[in-house]
Amino acid sequence: MATLEKAVVKGLAEDKGLYMPESIKPLPKEFFDNIDKMSFQEIAYTVADAFFGEDVDAESLKKIVYDTLAFDCPVVPVTDNIYTLELFHGPTLAFKDVGARFMARLLQYFLKKNGNDKGNVNVLVATSGDTGSAVANGFLGVEGIHVYVLYPKGKVSPIQECQFTTLGKNITAIEVDGVFDDCQALVKNAFMDAELNAHMKLTSANSINVARFLPQSFYYFNAYARMKALGKADELVMCVPSGNFGNICSALFGHQMGLPIKRFVAANNANDIFYNYLQTGEYHPQPSKATLANAMDVGDPSNFARIYDLYKGDHKAITSLISGATYKDEQIRQTMRECYAETGYVLDPHGACGYQALKDLLQPGEVGVFCETAHPAKFKEKVDDILGTDIEIPQRLQDFMKGTKQSIAMSKDFADFKAFLMAE
Ligand SMILES: *Cc1c(COP(=O)(O)O)cnc(C)c1O
Repeated sequence: MATLEKAVVKGLAEDKGLYMPESIKPLPKEFFDNIDKMSFQEIAYTVADAFFGEDVDAESLKKIVYDTLAFDCPVVPVTDNIYTLELFHGPTLAFKDVGARFMARLLQYFLKKNGNDKGNVNVLVATSGDTGSAVANGFLGVEGIHVYVLYPKGKVSPIQECQFTTLGKNITAIEVDGVFDDCQALVKNAFMDAELNAHMKLTSANSINVARFLPQSFYYFNAYARMKALGKADELVMCVPSGNFGNICSALFGHQMGLPIKRFVAANNANDIFYNYLQTGEYHPQPSKATLANAMDVGDPSNFARIYDLYKGDHKAITSLISGATYKDEQIRQTMRECYAETGYVLDPHGACGYQALKDLLQPGEVGVFCETAHPAKFKEKVDDILGTDIEIPQRLQDFMKGTKQSIAMSKDFADFKAFLMAE
């Protein structure tokens, strides 16, 4: 057993397992009865209090939540019975903004509480694009914490790259001469290296960290609230485009706390490991396959262990609550075109998996909400190519593109990376 503080500061348990909350507090019926009259921030604070209230004083927690959620998370109708929950209105237009910002604030709170506000915590994060920008922006300017973003040279889109290489301050971008797996291996090796850990305090900001994935549950309470206000929440199906399964896992925690969602759908691209688990009861990790929806290219989802644990490994319990769907690139393209032609809504390739899964799996009487996990402009070239559009790049993204790129070149050899960190 560990304190919340330890779970947040360390990221991974000593046995290399994932931290889980010891118990999950159900929220009272009155909360759900009145939720449709509450704002996103009010709802999120109530949920955060149930998760973190014993470890963080009320005033500080409220500040952390309100500071994290300074943007909206609207539900938008796409068809009669399919709605989308737009998770991309944060600072880097990614749903990961919420977890990254919340984790940065919580870590800072614990440092201050220990009189360590000069701090000396170093966050290492490997990215294939989206995680790096959300984490870098979430931690930007947070005193006492330095962030190292490792990314593969030439494998990240220019829009993504500028979101973490132009920031300066406490953010260092490291351009690795290799692929994403090399970046991840460097980070993993750093966590295991005794000499390096004696030299500096290291932590991870991947979705294995409880402070990064739990706050994502706020989105699902908000989705329920907004659908209830429309009188459409009685048979609600929530569909989550999934990669590492952190996002859907946070929704399942919400369900355990009493959130009245009827059932869930995990939508996947061609990486169909979870889909196959649902069909067969067997979990076989695979090397990841590159697809159009690249933030979901995961062959061994790290949060699968949490879902398994949540339902005590009971395959029947899992399949009665969660269904799966898997789509190849050709289907993703076709879905994007059909949705655009029929409804005018521009899906990004990740959201397209979610929309199609609801089209395929909704039963009569049910209403579905799928997460739009990325703003289509983040994948502008692909989206324009598929739809024949010229979508506008939001001002916030354009602003990043004006900055000057600064990064440190690194080989994929751990000895080089270690020597660099030892000299920091
Ligand atoms: C990270 C990400 C996902 C997958 O989320 P998980 O929590 O890893 O399942 C889906 N879509 C986009 C755009 C992402 O950035």
